[in-house]
Amino acid sequence: MREIVIISGKGGTGKTSVTGALAHLAGSTIICDLDVDAPDLHLLLRPTIRQRQAFYAGHEAVIDPEVCDGCGTCAALCQFGAIRCEGHDYRVVPWRCEGCKVCVAFCPAAAIRFPERHCGHWFVSDTRFGTLVHAQLFPGAENSGKLVMLLKQQARELAAAQGAEIILADGPPGLGCPVISSLSGAHLAVVVTEPTPSGRHDLARVVELCRHFQTPTAVILNKFDLHSGEAEQLAADCRDQGLPLLARLPHDPVITEAMVQGLVVTELPGTKFGGLLREAWEQIVALAAGAALSGSAGPAEKRPHPTVPRKEPFAEISSLESRNQEADVMLRRK
Ligand code: SF4
Ligand code: SF4
Repeated sequence: MREIVIISGKGGTGKTSVTGALAHLAGSTIICDLDVDAPDLHLLLRPTIRQRQAFYAGHEAVIDPEVCDGCGTCAALCQFGAIRCEGHDYRVVPWRCEGCKVCVAFCPAAAIRFPERHCGHWFVSDTRFGTLVHAQLFPGAENSGKLVMLLKQQARELAAAQGAEIILADGPPGLGCPVISSLSGAHLAVVVTEPTPSGRHDLARVVELCRHFQTPTAVILNKFDLHSGEAEQLAADCRDQGLPLLARLPHDPVITEAMVQGLVVTELPGTKFGGLLREAWEQIVALAAGAALSGSAGPAEKRPHPTVPRKEPFAEISSLESRNQEADVMLRRK
């Protein structure tokens, strides 16, 4: 079984559209939406929910009004302004509570419970491309890294039970905790990027992250015809870093056309865009298989990175950043 995660250094690069199309091409697959802070793969795959479970993470304080004697100690001690007094009643504002437990420890009447926090739900669903594991957090709910790990574990168990050869995951954008969780144990990370300065900048950062966790990495350049100069520079960056550039996808209205019809782009017959993605998918499978065959499916820290020897990533951007930092220091001195 191979785990392939589609990520992007930034949002809005077309990552989910690409993931949906790859899910169509993949065949025997467990699909996983790990972009738990803003999930939208379900909009393309239109799942039928088969199993629904509550997701709990962390704790929150809850005052029992029957036991509380209104001394006000909890409100005075809460550093997050999460306890309000309304008339003679003290109550916790759930979205302000950070779960530090100080009020619980110091309440003289033992009037504060500290249950697990209900943060959202996760689902196992049927789609036209196979089983989808996904989730929906409540607004403002945290611990998305923990939820990513939970979804991955469910996907692995389902893949083992169904004999699926591939787990294909739509990963989170950016570099935070959910992305790190999504890379854990992955055989291949595919970064979807675009030819803009911010696209190159964020690609450099996410490649560095993948390298740190020794996750094999490849790149898909979306909307390559937005800016030919940036596209060529990005391709050169990939060459320098030994990153396989799997496809240069054009900015093509066929994507919108597919969405309007409730399809992924590869479901439309005979499109050039779909053909490019088919070629990319063949390479993705080969790369993921190669990584697995070379014994890289073990703990991430023990894996060799299959790309080129380490170089300073995207040196031009790194030097620009360091110049900006120097300028910041000088400004602060003034
Ligand atoms: S510290 Fe306890 S008893 Fe005092 S107001 Fe808070 S909940 Fe009520
Ligand atoms: S657990 Fe901490 S943050 Fe939450 S209400 Fe109590 S003191 Fe405030």
